[in-house]
Amino acid sequence: MSAGIPSALLMDGTAVARRIVEQAAADAAALKAQAGVTPCLATVLVGSDPASVTYVRMKQNRSAKAGIGSRHVELPETATTAELVATLTGLSQDPEVHGILLQHPVPPHIDERAAFEAIAPEKDVDGVTMHSFAAMAFGEPGFASATPGGILRLLDAYSVDLAGRHAVIVGRSPILGKPVGMLLLARDATVTYCHSKTADLAALTRRADILVAAVGRPRFLTGDAVKAGAVVIDAGYNPGNVGDVDFPSAAEKASLITPVPGGVGPMTIAVLLEQTVAAARWQVARG
Ligand code: NAP
Repeated sequence: MSAGIPSALLMDGTAVARRIVEQAAADAAALKAQAGVTPCLATVLVGSDPASVTYVRMKQNRSAKAGIGSRHVELPETATTAELVATLTGLSQDPEVHGILLQHPVPPHIDERAAFEAIAPEKDVDGVTMHSFAAMAFGEPGFASATPGGILRLLDAYSVDLAGRHAVIVGRSPILGKPVGMLLLARDATVTYCHSKTADLAALTRRADILVAAVGRPRFLTGDAVKAGAVVIDAGYNPGNVGDVDFPSAAEKASLITPVPGGVGPMTIAVLLEQTVAAARWQVARG
């Protein structure tokens, strides 16, 4: 470590996520005791992309450990948009399913937006529908996108001040970059979005108090792009367990930084399970 440069503290997403999942498990058990209902998360996978298969299996395993039931539907790589929409509509109407997760990305011939919109908003525990996005943007009740929601929970767990701080988001995807910026804006951060057409990216990232990497390019942001003392959130997850941030050089500059794995990833699943239990409670209360 160079003189005057902070030595980054790790943001332990695994530990924070464990606490969230423990609470979700207690809430699921309480719902079972009170109403005889076990929350159930349906996962839908199109095709057999190995990474997607692994993600879905992880979500099912974590659900089982938390006392949350799961239903799994697999469609072939050749499935049409209409077939996927029909599957998601059926799950939306099934009273025994409380939350629905469509594993993405889906094969390129499928209209992903049409598929997401077939998920009933009250079961949209991954926060992918336009309804959920609008609710989040307006600060109305609804489910946040799971990864952005997890990032906010992690920032809160480490008592990171957001009001008035400059958050720079690299990436603007509908499931990650865009919503995490909106959640930070709602907490009074000043938000700058960057993307593939941004001119002089490093000049912007070097002004970030909170830097969120959501690019999908391994080790894309190096220490040169980080302001001394910044909080660095690496949402990236690339083959080989590699994030979008070059950890060693960024950790030289940051005050807080998420590792990959063990940072944002476990938070995503924790928020997904928490939202599944919340969805089940709401559906039971509604009758
Ligand atoms: P995505 O849909 O491919 O979006 C990537 C974004 O990065 C786009 O907005 C793109 O800009 C921007 N970008 C690409 N190249 C750039 C460059 N050279 N300079 C600046 N911006 C650039 O990806 P995503 O779904 O948001 O995922 C991003 C990363 O997060 C991936 O590594 C993914 O695996 C990871 N992820 C992790 C979790 C988790 O649970 N931990 C969940 C979801 C995603 P344009 O819009 O201009 O194309």
